[in-house]
Amino acid sequence: MFDTLGSGFRTVLNKIRFSDDSKALDKALDELKKTLLKNDVYHKTTKEILSQTKDYFKTNPIGKENFLKALSLSLESILKTNLNYGFSYSSVPPTCVLMTGLQGSGKTTTSAKLALYLKGKNKKVLLVPCDLQRLAAVTQLKTLGESIEVDVFNSESKKPLEVAKEALKLGKNYDVLIFDTAGRLAIDEALMDELDSIKKLVKPHDIFYVADSLSGQDGVRSADTFNQKVGITGVILTKFDSDSKGGIALSIAYQIGVPLRFIGVGEKLPDLEVFLPDRIISRLMGAGDIQTLAEKTASVMSDKEVKDIQKKIKKGNFTIEDFIAQIENVKKIGSMSSIMGMIPGLGNVASGLKNMDFDNSEEIKNIKCMVNSMTKKERLDPSILNGSRRKRIAKGSGLEVSDINRALKQFDMAAKMAKQFSGKKGASDFMSMLGQMKAQKR
Ligand code: GDP
Repeated sequence: MFDTLGSGFRTVLNKIRFSDDSKALDKALDELKKTLLKNDVYHKTTKEILSQTKDYFKTNPIGKENFLKALSLSLESILKTNLNYGFSYSSVPPTCVLMTGLQGSGKTTTSAKLALYLKGKNKKVLLVPCDLQRLAAVTQLKTLGESIEVDVFNSESKKPLEVAKEALKLGKNYDVLIFDTAGRLAIDEALMDELDSIKKLVKPHDIFYVADSLSGQDGVRSADTFNQKVGITGVILTKFDSDSKGGIALSIAYQIGVPLRFIGVGEKLPDLEVFLPDRIISRLMGAGDIQTLAEKTASVMSDKEVKDIQKKIKKGNFTIEDFIAQIENVKKIGSMSSIMGMIPGLGNVASGLKNMDFDNSEEIKNIKCMVNSMTKKERLDPSILNGSRRKRIAKGSGLEVSDINRALKQFDMAAKMAKQFSGKKGASDFMSMLGQMKAQKR
């Protein structure tokens, strides 16, 4: 997430040796411009960031530290369109929100993600499938709703407006109603009219525009059109875990003047994060985002688990059994690379782990079978596993030697990661913050 943009900024800062003259500043600004444009930051937004950064030096001496500060301040002013982030509730329940966007942007998935997020806050949510254009959308929402035990409104009607009307009648039984509206492949008048009539009926507290972060500059233009036609009050950017360059986040907020409220960072339903500008800026600047990670982890790990892991990390003892336990935890938090991206200095480890398939239950099953066929000594020290031991384990667990090799390689990577973890200041900050959060919860 934000990898390319973030590493671009770091390159700008690392490459340029600032002597305190305006030539050096121009060179740095030029490099910054290239980085921004290369990462899909809208040209007008780029211009604004450059001019704000440059202005800072009218009253401050030129230097590397000040450049970093100027850039942070500028990103802050671009991203902080107002202070309304995450979810907001109407004064009289239920809070109704419309999910809008182009087809394929991740609207239906994000509706369910939002429902899960709100369920975690003890809210009673009703998902309302008003996307009757895409045949599979209703079934998809039903399946997703079932998987998180959230009600999905069931209607015989084929008209989105009718479905919305019927759902509203049930409104008093819920805290939040999420209306998943139809998307099209491109913006068209019929879609806008349909949205407008649903809007007039539902009188939503918020209209979220769900934007695919891979859509680059096009994404900014379609968000703009939606905003002009129906008026959006928040943007949710999806697929930030993919090869997104991150530029759209900066551009949408500034160009449309509508705040980014959440970001989607994976295909799984827990992969939704409240968009907090300060945290994103610190991530862009390479400082990591320990707090988000601590909050996520605190929600899936027990106090004892946190303490045990703390002890193990301190001693550098991370066994293959811990590995399995952690895989289960990691699955609950989100994708591995998104987690690693939040830890300062672990960006490289994150890219190395991208190909590990933690979601593949077959793989986890294999690892468990493998562990069952291992002796206690082997479990504690997998480095003794030579060829004949591996063959024996493969036979015992009904797997191929290649499966064993792959599983051991994954463990090796995780063990290395744990070691890196214990060496980083960020990791100890993370652990102590986790401890504090646990203490607060009691
Ligand atoms: P809709 O047509 O806008 O309702 O889109 P869907 O909700 O069906 O999503 C389209 C595809 O994007 C699906 O395969 C989703 O799993 C995927 N998707 C949605 N959000 C994210 C995300 O944050 N990250 C990733 N990697 N995939 C996502």
